Amino acid sequence: MTTTGTAEVAVRHILSDKVTGGFLTPKTRTITWTSAHYTVKRPPSGKHTVELTCTECSASLLAEVRDQSTTRTLAALMRVIGIVCGVVFFAALAYAIHEGGKTLPEGQSLPVLFPISVVAVVVTFVAGPVFYLHGRNYNGVSMLDAPKPRRGHQIRPVKAARTRVRTRR
Ligand SMILES: [Zn+2]
Repeated sequence: MTTTGTAEVAVRHILSDKVTGGFLTPKTRTITWTSAHYTVKRPPSGKHTVELTCTECSASLLAEVRDQSTTRTLAALMRVIGIVCGVVFFAALAYAIHEGGKTLPEGQSLPVLFPISVVAVVVTFVAGPVFYLHGRNYNGVSMLDAPKPRRGHQIRPVKAARTRVRTRR
């Protein structure tokens, strides 16, 4: 395989991250940032580290970039895990409702599988969408853990081919 390819990323400089409300009013999180667009080269195989500079504060950020085929495999894998979670979620939910709704004869307790199904419902409810969305957006670029001046930055994948309107919150 000789195609190395590139990945599009946005380097975000977080200006403020405020959480308001939470007691009487609904909790809202307001994050503002400026972002710079970068195109990073992928390694032929494996992964390599690239340095990106924040246009806002000129901090240098280290990002790890994976090769094209590994990226595709991981993205597909995450989507599959997300879908499997969805299937497990509905199966476990149906089972939990079915077992939980039964009127049990005296002296009989719920099957062992019941608490397991409840746990499965909760776990897959959270993990499913996370994996699925992560898999959809994954482009093989991740920011490496950075010390102080680099904190307050994010590296986000940018889909080059598609234009998407996103509302900033
Ligand atoms: Zn910055």
